[in-house]
Amino acid sequence: MQPSVVFVLGGPGAGKGTQCQRIVQNYGYVHLSAGDLLREERNNPGSKYGELIENYIREGKIVPVEITCSLLEAAMDASGKEKFLIDGFPRNQNNLDGWQKAMAGKVRLQFVLFFDCPLEVCTERCLSRGAGRSDDNMESLRKRFNTYLNETKPIIEHYEDLSLVRRIDATRGVEKVYEDVRRIFEEPNVAGGDK
Ligand code: UDP
Ligand code: MG
Repeated sequence: MQPSVVFVLGGPGAGKGTQCQRIVQNYGYVHLSAGDLLREERNNPGSKYGELIENYIREGKIVPVEITCSLLEAAMDASGKEKFLIDGFPRNQNNLDGWQKAMAGKVRLQFVLFFDCPLEVCTERCLSRGAGRSDDNMESLRKRFNTYLNETKPIIEHYEDLSLVRRIDATRGVEKVYEDVRRIFEEPNVAGGDK
């Protein structure tokens, strides 16, 4: 059977990771955060990409897709599962092109879940979440937001043109946002078939 994929996008601190954890509990998806996979690879002493990844992350730039896409594919294969939330990817045209080339024929894209949140709210959340990340500081955040606006927004617009975007107002609290998320995952065409 063809695995199905939901891309989860939104600015840094929009709540993608938090909401994905909830979705996993209720709807049997596997959550794959591209950022987490990259950080894991960076921390692996055997990796030849550690330094490159850290530099990209601190500068808020997007790591070349060959690295990210192979981490995602390996994680999908290793899971043995068939429903994936791919969080924080594709973030730019290079990501999208690389994914299309390597993966488009192997999986079915269900939709793109877009957590829409103004930058001021995102900034506040990143600065107060205390995740110990090397990019949750004002200087990196400014760069991440620029990357988001210049590179990721056009990808969301691309999927909007294909009518594949499900937009969520992510400014509210976790519970309220999750109510809207649930509504989407309860739709018969989403929940059905491959639940
Ligand atoms: N990143 C990347 N490619 C990806 C996902 C993440 O290069 O596909 C890098 C990028 O530098 C980004 C950082 O990892 O700024 C952190 O991403 P993450 O998704 O963890 O941040 P979030 O949006 O969840 O705050
Ligand atoms: Mg995240």
